[in-house]
Amino acid sequence: MSKVAVVGAGTMGNGIAHVFAQHGWDVVLVDTSQEALDRAIKTIATNIEKLVKKGVGSRESGAGTLARIKPSTLLDAAKGAEIVVEAVSENPDIKFDIFEELDRLAPTGAILASNTSSISITEIAKQTRRPERVIGMHFMNPVPLMPLVEIVRGRVTGDEVVAKTVEITKQLEKTPVVVNDAPGFVSNRVLMPMINEAIFCVDEGVATPEAVDQVMQLGMNHPLGPLALADLIGLDVCLAIMKVLQDGLDAHKYRPAPLLEKMVANGQLGRKSGRGFYVYRD
Ligand code: NAD
Repeated sequence: MSKVAVVGAGTMGNGIAHVFAQHGWDVVLVDTSQEALDRAIKTIATNIEKLVKKGVGSRESGAGTLARIKPSTLLDAAKGAEIVVEAVSENPDIKFDIFEELDRLAPTGAILASNTSSISITEIAKQTRRPERVIGMHFMNPVPLMPLVEIVRGRVTGDEVVAKTVEITKQLEKTPVVVNDAPGFVSNRVLMPMINEAIFCVDEGVATPEAVDQVMQLGMNHPLGPLALADLIGLDVCLAIMKVLQDGLDAHKYRPAPLLEKMVANGQLGRKSGRGFYVYRD
């Protein structure tokens, strides 16, 4: 049986753990916070139940999925993993420390993947003595439902590692798209400026959040408006990505909307905090 370690059990980590376990992988799910681990297991159980109700998988296979996920507060649990997928907070210092540690712990042949939305894979790889085995594996939110995984090739990522990551992604029944390392890759270089612009519209009184979202849903055929999507992603994650685009590309063009900075400072992070552009009760 193949073993994966998923590091970070937040919005993305729980979905990534779910999808690997659903496809027969043994999963260790690591987070420094026991509370985050407990919440993740609860979320996965709820999501399995929702999928069963939609006719995706049986209750028995769902129980098997859940049983394959072992939560741990220790990174040591990553020992013996064939692949590690890091999904901790979008903060380079935290990620750099984790990759340095993973390099010591994980088998020499293991692939070290990051789910980062925007941070340079090449820089993350430099924290290890095996930069050719470091790659971006950028899942989309919500992971169990979204078909894309943006595979990010760092400057020295090996061809064999890219091929293996593509193969694993297909085994998870997702579609891999390989891109090169650049701030925000493709997905967030295109998406995040749109979200940021939508926030400027609210900030400058051009329209209410509801009106902005309606324009984009009904006028541009987007399934979710940009502000509802920002709430789903997490406003702290959106701000962190804008800062990476700003630092790496153009300071003025990618400047975060002041309202985004204000909301994050106030703890209004979107769905995960119960309040963002909208209010969430569950
Ligand atoms: P989140 O804030 O929901 O979860 C982050 C988790 O990391 C928390 O549970 C936290 O306790 C844990 N953590 C922090 N430091 C840690 C450490 N040293 N060791 C172990 N765990 C630690 O964040 P998220 O939205 O799940 O984002 C995780 C990553 O995925 C980020 O790099 C983000 O950019 C990326 N991403 C996010 C989205 C999205 O829509 N939210 C989409 C694609 C990619």
